[in-house]
Amino acid sequence: RRILTTENLEEDVKIENHLRPQLLSDYIGQEKAKETLKIYIEAAKERGESLDHVLFYGPPGLGKTTLAGIIANEMGVNLKITSGPAIEKPGEIAAILNNLQEGDVLFVDEIHRLNRQVEEVLYPAMEDYCIDIMIGKGASARSIRLDLPHFTLVGATTRAGMLTAPLRDRFGVIHRLEFYSWEELRTIILRSAKVLNVEIDPDGAYEMAKRSRGTPRLANRLLKRVRDFAQVRYEGVITKQVAQEALDLLDVDKLGLDTQDREILQALIYKFQGGPVGLESLAATLSEDAGTLEDVYEPYLIKSGFVQRTPRGRVATDLAYEHLGIPKEE
Ligand code: ADP
Repeated sequence: RRILTTENLEEDVKIENHLRPQLLSDYIGQEKAKETLKIYIEAAKERGESLDHVLFYGPPGLGKTTLAGIIANEMGVNLKITSGPAIEKPGEIAAILNNLQEGDVLFVDEIHRLNRQVEEVLYPAMEDYCIDIMIGKGASARSIRLDLPHFTLVGATTRAGMLTAPLRDRFGVIHRLEFYSWEELRTIILRSAKVLNVEIDPDGAYEMAKRSRGTPRLANRLLKRVRDFAQVRYEGVITKQVAQEALDLLDVDKLGLDTQDREILQALIYKFQGGPVGLESLAATLSEDAGTLEDVYEPYLIKSGFVQRTPRGRVATDLAYEHLGIPKEE
């Protein structure tokens, strides 16, 4: 299985929760989001009100769930976690909302995958803190209005563009999370190492940071794997050399690309002469889902300059040829 998948792997859930920063001051990077949230949180607390609804978007593993937890902690309220695909019926979301307490944070991951009917329950809930429920059937059916506690909806999505306008408009705060710099990732790795009691030097942490695709989830996962490697072969200390050897062994190259990334670039270059090629055709060649390719693999390849998105399709850049050692035919 792919070590660099940004999906939340079952085996990592425990360690992820363990490594999650609990307060805004422990949360590294994303300075703009942090600054704004800090102000909103302080203001809401001073007024004794619930926080405005917040939407986070950006690739997986960048800290959206973590921020939802931090908001709840900082506000001193409970956090309830659910996700778009998990809620199938309007009655289910009504029950979740009705069970919240004053001020609670409801985190809805993959919020773009809510179905229409469920979403419609959310509109009045977010706007006026009430829901209309139908009782009875047929001619005697009528709707009654139910008041809800003032809650904060924190939504997360990998694709802001997939949100309907009425839903998006109901969020008071919208933030895009960015990929982390190597320096920020190094800090995250050093912090995680401390929590996990792993010995690592700053150069070792930097080597791992460079190969973590700008993503804290991956940085933490690599740390877990490299720790095992260091323990078995090198008396437990992660130095630059240990990190390099371990990551080479795991097939994570110097710029954080793994086999799957290289396959994408190779397909682009060999099967489509470097592009431009449409997302769907590229996905079909790789037997990959187009949505996954777009949300999960592509953002980092684009961000690091291996792939360009043009109006006519995806194009492999000179850097991609160079990195793979493929001569470019003019
Ligand atoms: P998302 O919800 O965006 O998929 P998560 O919030 O689940 O991502 O974060 C994944 C992991 O990365 C968590 O274990 C968390 O500890 C770590 N993490 C994310 N952002 C940060 C950060 N800014 N500082 C430290 N650790 C972070």
